[in-house]
Amino acid sequence: MFQAFLIKYAEIAIKGKNRPLFEDALVRQIRRALKKVDGSFHVYKTQGRINVSAEEGFDYNGTVEALTRVFGINAVCPVLVLEDEGFEVLKEKVVAYMDEAYPDKDMSFKVHARRARKNYPVESMDINAKMGEAILKAFPSMHVDVKDPDVMLNIEIREKIYVYSISIPGVGGMPSGTGGKAMLLLSGGIDSPVAGYMIAKRGVSLNAVYFHAPPYTSERARQKVEDLAAIVGDYAGEIYLHVINFTEIQKYIYEKCPHDELTIIMRRYMMRIAERIALEQDCLALVTGESIGQVASQTMQSLMCTNEVCEQLPVFRPLIGFDKQEIVEISKKINAYETSILPFEDCCTIWVAKHPVTKPSVKVIRRHEEFLKEEIDEMVERAVNGHDVVKI
Ligand code: ATP
Ligand code: MG
Repeated sequence: MFQAFLIKYAEIAIKGKNRPLFEDALVRQIRRALKKVDGSFHVYKTQGRINVSAEEGFDYNGTVEALTRVFGINAVCPVLVLEDEGFEVLKEKVVAYMDEAYPDKDMSFKVHARRARKNYPVESMDINAKMGEAILKAFPSMHVDVKDPDVMLNIEIREKIYVYSISIPGVGGMPSGTGGKAMLLLSGGIDSPVAGYMIAKRGVSLNAVYFHAPPYTSERARQKVEDLAAIVGDYAGEIYLHVINFTEIQKYIYEKCPHDELTIIMRRYMMRIAERIALEQDCLALVTGESIGQVASQTMQSLMCTNEVCEQLPVFRPLIGFDKQEIVEISKKINAYETSILPFEDCCTIWVAKHPVTKPSVKVIRRHEEFLKEEIDEMVERAVNGHDVVKI
């Protein structure tokens, strides 16, 4: 029944000069999202609004699904587009629309007409009254409530006539590409894809870095991370995934450092390498999926130790105050969960100590990192220079 969509976005954040930038970015992201949907679409701005019109035969459900994933959209309103065939015909068609859109009919409504084309013979107030009457006559169980209606039936008279009343909630946030770029440390777990999603929701584009340890971690583990990057990318847009071979560094740390400090020292090297690549790629922050107390490497003391090696970039940890259950909920909502729980090994889990330190001291860790000094710089160089980049 619908041939178009009206896109609603939060306008508070984008008053003034930023508005066209915001809208243009949103239009670009809508076009990107619709590329994956069956159909031919026209996305355009008019009268300070964004509209999507579709040619007949398009995939309605796919379109709604794609649009409700675009950051920056608060709601999507499917629009019935009618030719002007006179007011009597309009009444019939709107009654038929109400019949189809609201099968149970037990609700209040209000008609809100706007006559943008002034030569239309019926004035807005009259449209409201007469259309309301026609609907009440057809469906006696409906009633009018002008203050707080369940359904606001909008009728806009332009060249064509636009009828809409349904508002499907979008994801909100800001359009991708309006907020700079960040480097996500992406593992195959539940947390980091959610962390990436949350930062991307604020309009930030993402690059990602994944540390693997072949042959100890498999090709399938890497594939899983690429799949997760694609899931985050459904929302965030194109992601360049930097894949770092971490085997040599991990083995060396294992050889030289106290085993209860392995995870912390490894995490410090991950952060150092991630920061270097991030700076090369003009990223303005690092992003991780850490949350206080979740595991030994995420106590306050451990976080202080991992944070300490980042010299220039801030580290954003959007999940820092979240419980696991709250993170799982978002993971499910964004369709990452099923992939995240696939049982492939992560490089962090290969050489874990039975009793990792939970309260590491920065001073002690620094002292123990001295044991690595002979070869670690070259190993880091090799890891950084030899890494793969996959466009997702
Ligand atoms: P996740 O579910 O994101 O894997 P986790 O609970 O398993 O998190 P850790 O393994 O301690 O936690 O990792 C903490 C954070 O460090 C992750 O959220 C991620 O940002 C980063 N990280 C961990 N392992 C890797 C890896 N192999 N490659 C890239 N980043 C990683
Ligand atoms: Mg992990």
